[in-house]
Amino acid sequence: MKLPVEAPHTGKISDLAGNLESDPAQGLSAREAARRLQTLGPNRLEAGKKVSPLEILWHNLNNIIVYLLILASVVSFANGEPVEGFAVIVAILIAVLSGFVSEYQAQKSVESLQSMVKTHAKVRRDGKILEIASEELVPGDVLFLEEGDPVGADARLISARNFAVMEAALTGESEAVDKDPDSSPEENTALGDRKNMVYLGTAVTRGNADALVTGTAMDTEIGRISGLLKETENTPSPLEEQLDRLGKTLILFAGAVALLVSLVGILSGREIYEMVKIGIILAIAAVPEALPAVSTITLAIGMKTMAGHNALVKSLPAVETLGSTTVICTDKTGTLTENQMTTRQVALPGGARYQVEGNGYVPEGDFLKEDAVADPTGDAALMDFITAGVLSSNASLSSTGEDWQVVGDPTEGALVVLGRKAGLSREELESAGWNRLGEIPFDSRDKFMATAYETPDGEGWLFVKGAPDVLDALASGEESLEEENSPLAGEGLRVLAVGRTSYRGDGSESSLREALKEGIEVLGLAGILDPPREDVRQAIEEAYAAGIRVIMITGDHPRTASIIAERIGMANTDRVITGQEMDRMDDETLAGEIRQVSVFARVSPENKLQIIRALNIDKEVTAMTGDGVNDAPALQGADIGVAMGIRGTEVAREASDMILTDDRFSTIVRAVREGRVIFDNIEKFVYFLFSCNVVEILAVFLSIVLGYPMPVLALQILWLNLVVDVMPAMSLAWEPGEPGVMRRPPRDPSQGIVTRSFLLRVLAAGAVIGLGSLGVFIWALESGLPENVARTMSFTTMSLGQLFHIFNARENEHFGLDASLLKNPYLLGALGISVVLQLVAVYLPFLNRVMDTTPLDGGLCAIVLAGSIVPTLLIQMVRAVRRRSAAR
Ligand code: ADP
Ligand code: MG
Repeated sequence: MKLPVEAPHTGKISDLAGNLESDPAQGLSAREAARRLQTLGPNRLEAGKKVSPLEILWHNLNNIIVYLLILASVVSFANGEPVEGFAVIVAILIAVLSGFVSEYQAQKSVESLQSMVKTHAKVRRDGKILEIASEELVPGDVLFLEEGDPVGADARLISARNFAVMEAALTGESEAVDKDPDSSPEENTALGDRKNMVYLGTAVTRGNADALVTGTAMDTEIGRISGLLKETENTPSPLEEQLDRLGKTLILFAGAVALLVSLVGILSGREIYEMVKIGIILAIAAVPEALPAVSTITLAIGMKTMAGHNALVKSLPAVETLGSTTVICTDKTGTLTENQMTTRQVALPGGARYQVEGNGYVPEGDFLKEDAVADPTGDAALMDFITAGVLSSNASLSSTGEDWQVVGDPTEGALVVLGRKAGLSREELESAGWNRLGEIPFDSRDKFMATAYETPDGEGWLFVKGAPDVLDALASGEESLEEENSPLAGEGLRVLAVGRTSYRGDGSESSLREALKEGIEVLGLAGILDPPREDVRQAIEEAYAAGIRVIMITGDHPRTASIIAERIGMANTDRVITGQEMDRMDDETLAGEIRQVSVFARVSPENKLQIIRALNIDKEVTAMTGDGVNDAPALQGADIGVAMGIRGTEVAREASDMILTDDRFSTIVRAVREGRVIFDNIEKFVYFLFSCNVVEILAVFLSIVLGYPMPVLALQILWLNLVVDVMPAMSLAWEPGEPGVMRRPPRDPSQGIVTRSFLLRVLAAGAVIGLGSLGVFIWALESGLPENVARTMSFTTMSLGQLFHIFNARENEHFGLDASLLKNPYLLGALGISVVLQLVAVYLPFLNRVMDTTPLDGGLCAIVLAGSIVPTLLIQMVRAVRRRSAAR
């Protein structure tokens, strides 16, 4: 085997297969494929490297806290305090290990979720077709490609049937390109004209084909063009950047505080060695090293929660962006509606109308004409209409017991079921001698589909179904269907027109198109009911309350669209913009219109991208749904591309940032809510940790200034920061979210977490708690208690005060000591453990020696409790007063 394959588009396919040591009919053997994968590596463009456990360990080691701790331990040893020195080394181990473990777990959970959304490819191996991850494709594999599939590697076509590919990503050409395995391009033919090849990064729009893989990974055309194409994975998200910047500022701040406190201490005549150590420890206290890790962990937890609610988000930055979504652009059919299509009305030319009864896809129900049951077989015009509808469909009906399902397009299902209600089915007609000659597949741009048949008596017919306006344009007569169409559309029904014409041809797509030009006879209209999903109304209400706009996009008639929009409680449903109108607008004009209009009908995939561009002008953060191959550009253009997990193509899944495994609109709103909760939780974490740091810094600083001894010792500060606070702080990541998260406008993504008012809240809370402990300390000293008793009291007051403070941090709207606490068992557990650890620090003789603490009796404990609870009560009082004045 000679790799890379030179000019795979030239020469005979058999020679190529020979060179690749592969058999076009059988494919590779599983063993050979595994061997090639081993030697050649995965079929992945040089993506951002995976983070290895070693790297995670390294960056937990290689950070400023660890260096400061080492320094502190050296200072202790140098001063003849080996116990303290060792204790600090233990602190280093705790800090590094807890950081490593939590980050590693977050990484693992992200990876396992990401493996759920890998792109797949169908290959023939050992003669059987199986589905593998596209990453496992190797040269010599025989690919099987179908409509909606991404092309997973460069490959030479072996055989193809009605096969076309969208190559925009590679060539910029936006029309689908027909492919032909038998063409023989010259060696220097341009990429776009090599009709016997398909390339990585393109997608199948129609038909199917077998193809021999000639190049994978960087050894593909797109790999070569992009050279060092990097996936976006490793570029920092806005949140990460913000936290990074915040971290750097705080490190400077920490240095300044440490220096100031030590200097003031030394100048006021305290022991230099003790002051240096306190300086180092305060710096450690103030450095927010955990920040980036916590944002990663919180986002990873959010990703998992979302996956549990049917939203698979592919990357952590996408989790974050979701929370600031300002506009959701959603397909109507199947996302807002059930995609359970039932024909309710039939309108025939000349004014005859039938109502059709029955439920869903169950093929039972009467035809009513003027409210009386009528036998459909008695009306030839009706039977012609139904026959044409059934024969121009590909869907089929199947049942498991009582349960009936449609295999294929639900819109066609509505006609298939209608046929069964009148005793007609495509399968029966075909076994009775109706012979399918060819087909023009449905396309959301053309909005029609046609089939050609030969009857048992040798007549040729062409059947068409599609949007009424499209069939109007194809019709030979002058009369318009609009008169029949508008009452149906006015009831919110999806309308499908059916027609036919005689056909003489070989069944090729071009011969069908020729026949259509002769003009068709319209046989009637089907009014199809597709009920809104039951939870849609509420989800839309929730989105509106959260200041998020909802835009409906559909290929349906504008009337149908606006009626459905109104039914599900959307705003601005009077005016509808159609795709044709949009085609005449530039992006600025559309941006102006889109501020007032929420319903877009008769839309093409290009129009979707146009909507995204218009919304970008207004700096909206957009989520856009899509399912087809042609939707890929719009999905990529949106801030959050949302693919349908059930209905969507593999291409759409690949182009998206999030996949809905249940195709529901409400799942998007729920994911947005989750994104907001995650952001809130990161903010709560920052608030909590920063204010706890202020507590220690302020208490130490003030006692120096006021001429008192240290209210808390170096090791005790480490204990507070690395042992007591950490777990409750981390468990904020599991907070379920406050009731008001979806009752406030979206966050401005350009605005950082740390605003001036946020900083003020942090400082104020920290100061109140710090003063509480200092108060207890000074009271104890002034009452004549020994220094280490007073210090144990202030140390414990800080510890418990910070634990009570978690209730201020976890809820902004109310006091956090409420029933919702039960929804976060991690926090409850963390609080319990922290309290026990603090008791251990005070009552365990060993720790008494290490940390210079001493057991406290009941009376002193009561004072400690008071000193730790009162600050939180004060904070809550201030909040209550502010809430009241805000309400006024
Ligand atoms: P949506 O975006 O709402 O799913 P489509 O683009 O799928 O809209 O459909 C637009 C119109 O095309 C429909 O209103 C219907 O008239 C027609 N149509 C839909 N599906 C088919 C089909 N399978 N065959 C023929 N016509 C169809
Ligand atoms: Mg559709």
